[in-house]
Amino acid sequence: MNKIFLYNTLSRRKEEFKPITKDEVGLYTCGPTVYNYAHLGNLRTYLFEDILKRTLEYNNYKVKHVMNITDVGHLTGDMDMGEDKLEAGAKREGKSAWEIAEFYTKAFKDDLILLNIEEPNIWCKATENISEQIEMIRTLEKKAYTYKTSDGIYFNTAKIKDYNKLSHLPLAELKEGARVEINVEKKNPTDFALWKFSPKDSKRQMEWDSPWGVGFPGWHIECSAMSLKYLGKQLDIHCGGIDHINIHHTNEIAQSEAATGKEFFKYWLHGAFLNIEGGKKMAKSDGNFLTLENALIKKGLNPLVYRFADLQVHYRKSMEQSDTTLKQASDGLNSLLNQVVLLGQEIGSVNLEFKDKFIEAINNDLNTPKALAIISSVLKSRLNPADKLATILDFDKVLGLDMGKVQAEGGIVSRELKLEELSVEVQDLVSERQKARASKDYQESDRLRDKIKKLGYIVEDAKGGLKISLL
Ligand code: AMP
Ligand code: ZN
Repeated sequence: MNKIFLYNTLSRRKEEFKPITKDEVGLYTCGPTVYNYAHLGNLRTYLFEDILKRTLEYNNYKVKHVMNITDVGHLTGDMDMGEDKLEAGAKREGKSAWEIAEFYTKAFKDDLILLNIEEPNIWCKATENISEQIEMIRTLEKKAYTYKTSDGIYFNTAKIKDYNKLSHLPLAELKEGARVEINVEKKNPTDFALWKFSPKDSKRQMEWDSPWGVGFPGWHIECSAMSLKYLGKQLDIHCGGIDHINIHHTNEIAQSEAATGKEFFKYWLHGAFLNIEGGKKMAKSDGNFLTLENALIKKGLNPLVYRFADLQVHYRKSMEQSDTTLKQASDGLNSLLNQVVLLGQEIGSVNLEFKDKFIEAINNDLNTPKALAIISSVLKSRLNPADKLATILDFDKVLGLDMGKVQAEGGIVSRELKLEELSVEVQDLVSERQKARASKDYQESDRLRDKIKKLGYIVEDAKGGLKISLL
C-alpha cells in the first residue's frame, strides 16, 4: 500500500494516514443545511471531499462514507441565537419546513450528480436521528457537562481542558469570537446549545418531546450522534470547510469526547473558501450567491467545468470566483477532453512510471494541480495513443472529469479536424486510404475507412476535399 499524507488540522501538519482498521476508512463529511441551494463555495468543499474519497479508493481502501443532512437546528447565528434556518426558509417561500428540507435535499443531490461527486454510502438526516441525539445529551447530563437556561440545555465548555485543541486559538480569542451573539444566561461565551426549547408563545413546525421539554436539537449534536451511530469505532476522517473549525467541529469534539471518554476522529481535514471578487467568502446569507444553475448551466457551460476549475487550485488555498476563471476553465477542459478524444478508441496499458508520479502527487495531501500537470506530460510524451489513453483514464478515477464517457461518445466538440490534429497512426491510415482511392481500389479504401472509424473518426470525400470529424 502506498503512503498517503494528509494535512491534519488537529496537529497543523501533514501526517501519514493510518486508518484504525487495516484497509478500511470511516469518513464523515458535514452535509448541507437544506434551506437553500448549495452555492459554488459549498460545492468546492464537497468536491475536495470527493477527491479525498476517490484518492483513498484509488489506493485500495474500502471507504465507508457518511454524510448528514442538516434539516433542523442550525440557527441563523452560529452561536445558537436567531431563527432556525429551515423555519426561516419556510416563511420565505410560503412552504412548510419539511417541504423546504425535501426540496433542497433533492436539489443538493442533483448537484452532486452533475459534478460527478460520488454518493455517500449512508445519508442521514438530523430529523430522523432525534432519539440518538437526546440519548447523547442525557449521557452528557449524567456526566455533569450540561446546565439549563431559560431557552435550552447548554454544554459547559469550561469543563473541557483542551477545548481549543482543534482551533489552536487562545481561549480568550475563541471567547471573543463567541461574544458576537450575547446570551447573558450562558456560563461561558463558548458554551453551546444541546437542546433548545420551543418558544412558549408560538408553535414550531419541527419539534419533539424530550426529557427537558418540547424543543429541537442544537446544530452540533447531530454530527456527533450520527457519526458515532453510523461509523461506530471507525472514526478516521472528519471533514468540512474551514469555517467549521472554531465552532462546529470544536464543539463536536468537546461533546463527543466528553460523552464517550475516548478520542473522537483522528484526522480533521478542512477545505479553504471560495471567495467572491474582493476576497469575501461566498455565503448563503448574502442572497446573491452563485449556483451551478446560474453560474454555469444557464450560460451553456458543462457543470464539470467547475470541477475542473477547482482541481486547478489546491484545496487548502483560497480560490476566487469570477466569470473569467470559469471561462478559462471551460477552455482548459474542452482542450483536454478533445486531446483525449483524439487519442482514438483503442485502450492500451497504464504506464507505471506516470502512475507512480500521479500517486505521489495525489497522495501528497491531494495535490490536484500537480496531478493535472502530469496528465499534460502524458499527452506530450512519446507513449503510443492507446497507452496514453489507458493511463489518463486510470487517473480520471480520481479526477472524475468523465474522460471515459466523453471519449466513448466521440468528444464534446463535434467539428472538422485538421490532419495535423490527428495521431500519426490515423494520419497514416488516412493517407493510405487516399492512395487506395487514387488507384481506384475502392474495396481497400472502404476497409481503411472502417478502420479509421474504429479509432473514432469519420472520413468523408466532400466536394472541397477530404473532411475528417469526430465520430
Ligand atoms: P452549510 O450548508 O452552510 O452548512 O455548508 C456546507 C459546507 O460548505 C460546509 O462544509 C461549509 O464549511 C462549506 N462552505 C460554506 N461556505 C463556503 C465557501 N465560501 N467556500 C468553501 N466552502 C464553504
Ligand atoms: Zn457537522
